[in-house]
Amino acid sequence: MSNIVAIVGRPNVGKSTFFNRLVEKKQAIMDNESGVTRDRQYGEAEWNGKRFTVIDTGGYVTGSEDIFESEIRKQVKEALNEASVILFMVDCHAGLTGLDKDFAKIVREISKPVFVVANKADTAEKSYTMGEFYALGFDEVYPISSASGSGTGEILDEVVKIL
Ligand code: GDP
Ligand code: MG
Repeated sequence: MSNIVAIVGRPNVGKSTFFNRLVEKKQAIMDNESGVTRDRQYGEAEWNGKRFTVIDTGGYVTGSEDIFESEIRKQVKEALNEASVILFMVDCHAGLTGLDKDFAKIVREISKPVFVVANKADTAEKSYTMGEFYALGFDEVYPISSASGSGTGEILDEVVKIL
């Protein structure tokens, strides 16, 4: 397994919605022995004739700050270690948050290609927060709407080029 795309980001940005749009066939939820926080979902996808595995990260317990240091960090790091490309998802409706910055630190520790994906850019008006996300320090920010699919082709074109 070498073509692996991991979707990471704080809860509720739309990771699973994007994952569900991408994958043709889902595998069972993996690694859920703790019962709360360690689940990662794997799926198979294809774009422009290139096949790859997508990892959806999630299942975090929210409402506690220190959970970030322990479980989220561990879970995200495991996904990042497996990945060849990282999609770091943020939310145009919410704008840039402290938790996004926490995720950015973890993502930056890994020297792998990172695409910042600004989800919920459903309309031109809603994508106006896009500029904020350049403060995370990555080269490009790609606006998409996982709900409608708009922008998803553009990001996937770039992703599969480097797989
Ligand atoms: P996750 O926690 O990052 O996996 O986020 P989910 O995929 O579960 O989505 C969180 C919420 O955002 C759900 O209510 C989705 O319907 C909604 N959502 C996901 N993608 C979009 C989008 O592109 N536009 C809008 N408006 N809502 C979205
Ligand atoms: Mg999810």
